[in-house]
Amino acid sequence: MHKRRVNELRLQLVIEPAGPILIKSGVESGADPTLPSMNFVRTNHPRSGRRTIYLPGSSLKGVIRSHSERILHTMLAGSQTRVCNPLSRNDNCASRLREQEIVDTAQQYRAMCPACRTFGHMTNASHFFSADAYPAAAIDELPVRQNVAIDRLSGGVAVGPFDMEVALTGKFGTRLLLYNFELWQVGLLALALRDIAAGRVRVGFAKSRGLGEVRLYLAQMEVSYPGRFGGGDFAFDQTLYGVGALAPDLLADYGYVGADDRVAYGREGHMDESGAVWGRPSIRFGLAGDDPEGQSTPTLEASHQEIMGVLTSTMAPWTAFIRQQGGVTV
Ligand SMILES: [Zn+2]
Repeated sequence: MHKRRVNELRLQLVIEPAGPILIKSGVESGADPTLPSMNFVRTNHPRSGRRTIYLPGSSLKGVIRSHSERILHTMLAGSQTRVCNPLSRNDNCASRLREQEIVDTAQQYRAMCPACRTFGHMTNASHFFSADAYPAAAIDELPVRQNVAIDRLSGGVAVGPFDMEVALTGKFGTRLLLYNFELWQVGLLALALRDIAAGRVRVGFAKSRGLGEVRLYLAQMEVSYPGRFGGGDFAFDQTLYGVGALAPDLLADYGYVGADDRVAYGREGHMDESGAVWGRPSIRFGLAGDDPEGQSTPTLEASHQEIMGVLTSTMAPWTAFIRQQGGVTV
């Protein structure tokens, strides 16, 4: 990816268990019979320093990526556009780029599937980051559930019963960052987050046995344009601009969708007036504060609705992209 950063989308969100969830730690209790045999992953809380369970950013990114791939696979089913199959060794961008010996980053970007363009792959860095999610206050004590592993062939008990720690409550706050994005990528992210928010996507361990149902609330959205002083031809307070609109010189090399990659928010956001002075105009939607995990559910629901309303504006460039790729939109 080119070094210049032209746009940034930051989302603050809150994830809440809607039933038992377990993000397994790599450390098992081994021979100690007093410990549950499957433990929730723990670290030190960034504010209090206390021992706490958390949702690792890599797990969240994995959930968002795999659901985004599912969406792309569905919509591009009849088209020529390939989408990485993470379950196959050869049917993915990494092996295709290696075979075709493509090393130039702009060329790689053009050759990659929509999922890898957004979430990165082995040699081409990601435009998307997910931070670790922490509860408002440390949670160390968890209920323990018994579970058994069922043998797929006989239907009998294969292993167990074994103990597992599950989280049932807590508001886990985290941040997502997408930069140098095209608007269809924001649309894809919005669709994935909408499905997770609606409880259609499970996270963590034993998903097929009913674990991992969560709720997700978008608490704050901020869009920034680094390196811009004043608006010029741009209306940063009203319009969301994709990388093609901001860096037309890179259009041909990277194969971006176009210089007209822009869409009106259609809603009033909060413009940071000092941003342009410092070379970084920014507009914010949703909560003003910095501690979404400390907010009540109705407050979070209200900002979630507001931000989903703003993100609806990206459905037009998203469907245009899918059609351009030969996919089907209804
Ligand atoms: Zn790919």
